[in-house]
Amino acid sequence: LDSNKDEKQLNREQEVLEEKVKEEEKRIKTIEQTRKSLPVYKKRTELMQLIKENQVMIIVGETGSGKTTQIPQYLYEDGYTQNGRYKIGCTQPRRVAATSVATRVADEVGTKVGDTVGYTIRFDDKTSEKTEIKYMTDGMLLREFLNDFELSAYSVMMIDEAHERTLSTDVLLGLLKVIIKTRPDFKLLICSATMNAVKFSEFFEDAPIYNIPGRTYEVELYYTPQPEANYVHAAITSVFQIHLSQGPGDILVFLTGQEEIENMAENLAETSNKLGNKIKELLICPIYANLPSELQQRIFEPTPKNARKVVLATNIAETSLTIDGIVYVIDSGFVKENKFNPSTGMESLEIQPCSKASANQRAGRAGRVGPGKCFRLFTKTAFETEMPDNPTPEILRVNLNGVVLLLFSLGITDIWNFDYMDAPSSDNLAKSLSLLYSLGAFNENGEFTKIGRQMSEFPVDPMLSKCLLTSGEMNCCSEVLSIISMLQETNSLFYRSKEKQQQIQASREKFISKTGGDHLTYLNIWNEFVDSGYSRQWCHDNFVQFKTLNRVKNIRTQLERICAKQSLLLENPQSSNISRDKTILHVMKSIVSGYFWNVARLNRGGDSYKSLKKNQQVWIHPSSAMFKLKPPVKFLIYNELVLTSKEFMRNCMPISERWLSEYASHYYTDDELNEGGKKK
Ligand code: ADP
Ligand code: MG
Repeated sequence: LDSNKDEKQLNREQEVLEEKVKEEEKRIKTIEQTRKSLPVYKKRTELMQLIKENQVMIIVGETGSGKTTQIPQYLYEDGYTQNGRYKIGCTQPRRVAATSVATRVADEVGTKVGDTVGYTIRFDDKTSEKTEIKYMTDGMLLREFLNDFELSAYSVMMIDEAHERTLSTDVLLGLLKVIIKTRPDFKLLICSATMNAVKFSEFFEDAPIYNIPGRTYEVELYYTPQPEANYVHAAITSVFQIHLSQGPGDILVFLTGQEEIENMAENLAETSNKLGNKIKELLICPIYANLPSELQQRIFEPTPKNARKVVLATNIAETSLTIDGIVYVIDSGFVKENKFNPSTGMESLEIQPCSKASANQRAGRAGRVGPGKCFRLFTKTAFETEMPDNPTPEILRVNLNGVVLLLFSLGITDIWNFDYMDAPSSDNLAKSLSLLYSLGAFNENGEFTKIGRQMSEFPVDPMLSKCLLTSGEMNCCSEVLSIISMLQETNSLFYRSKEKQQQIQASREKFISKTGGDHLTYLNIWNEFVDSGYSRQWCHDNFVQFKTLNRVKNIRTQLERICAKQSLLLENPQSSNISRDKTILHVMKSIVSGYFWNVARLNRGGDSYKSLKKNQQVWIHPSSAMFKLKPPVKFLIYNELVLTSKEFMRNCMPISERWLSEYASHYYTDDELNEGGKKK
């Protein structure tokens, strides 16, 4: 009897094994079929030949033609890595794109992410010695220059989504122009959506432009007859109109940011719950830059029969991610852009009309599987008269502190004459130089200092790295490290839930430090999390997102490693002798040493503030621990100024005027520090 049972067992195991192999074969076949069906596949031989013959090529193709996932694989298959001697690199402006594409390509190649195919984004490195195809954000490649000015680890670099013209991509293009002269064996591919290709070609001495013919279908455009007062409401209505009256096909909605997307997702879910089984199921999939990667992959899952997928996206889905099955696009016509005004020093995230080129890209997403429809939540007149033709390259509108610091550390000190595709304004460059000078990155002779070099090692804003450096001298590096790590992840710290709003608010308030503002509040949260043994339960009990704190933990570990490399004192040698009050004072002073540019003084009798240097009226952001604090503090430091309904200061910390004379006497005049004083 026993032997009979054994035999049955064996049979079953063999069956399971066979089933697994069959499934694997099926998977490989599907992948092969998908790969062969992509437009780039038909052009493979021609394209590879051209790459062989040309050092630099501009490759243009519709979204979804297979540029990002296929070209690095073709290069790999054709031996460009010379059996692991070199890597093939591919940059992406967005973190989400880098991780999701690497995941997909690893799957196609048949390995795990981190083996042959890997990715590197800030604070998350999934590569190993085995990695030969490496996806990364453009910002991470820029940092690689610090250690390897010739990019000698790579035989090919593909700068993808170059039309996005991010700050890092623009700087990379300038640096790569030098490399192609010194390394004749190095290949450079610039990939772009259809716009701007000629400009890239001209920048690289008329490099050939190769067009991958795409397959796109007609997209019908619909405009609203009148301007929409609230595009989120209009988008919600449009989703249900499509869902109830139009044929099958998924919907892609373009909004401007995380909060908007989350609100709309909530609203859609509520409404469709109310309608219950009167309608077909709606699968709501948000996608934005900060969405945890476990959730990102959901947008790519095939839509089940009898359901309709609604993807709520930022402009991330314009070109960098291809979502199959979209037939309807709803376009808010807006985009959130980072802007920096060097004359006021104000940085703002502004929601504003997107460009015509973007609107057309968005519409194009509806025509990949068949004829589609695009519902524009703006008028035809607005399209023609209010939208600029092309987006403004980031280098012309953002703060350049990090880039100037990086160029200096690469030995490029003549930042005025660097080979920019579009040169930034000299006001903006001057502003960054003056900030970096005031932080001690250069001396009076314009020479790069040790402090400057140390600052450039940290992948965070130079002002934050300065705080860290100071904290190293003041025996509070560990605390400042925690605060800075928390500051990287402040957006999704607490749960969001309408029903539990009061409990969440009560929990937040427990952590608030009145003396130390948001910074010390973050430190309190972090310390309690550490004391709990990094406990998930503790997070749950306090309405704090465990995943977010886990990311903070990871960020902290990596920044700590850089601190150790720079011999910053991490553990306080006489910690038992130093009182907690003294440590807190030192922490606050360390923050002042990096952020003295961002000081505001309370207006007399009001709840608003004036920025000290520029005399601009500003307000404490409602999310701040110091919002509506009674009595309001007289002086404070803020990490960022965001312009939404008002000029809001985010992440604020009260300071004493004396600390400014201590740390910023070189920056503020006595009169500026004294209320009502006139400028010298
Ligand atoms: P391009 O870079 O030209 O826009 P991609 O190489 O990104 O095109 O995409 C080609 C195809 O690969 C897409 O149509 C899609 O079918 C598939 N694909 C890309 N990324 C993913 C992913 N993360 N998950 C599943 N499929 C994907
Ligand atoms: Mg792509």
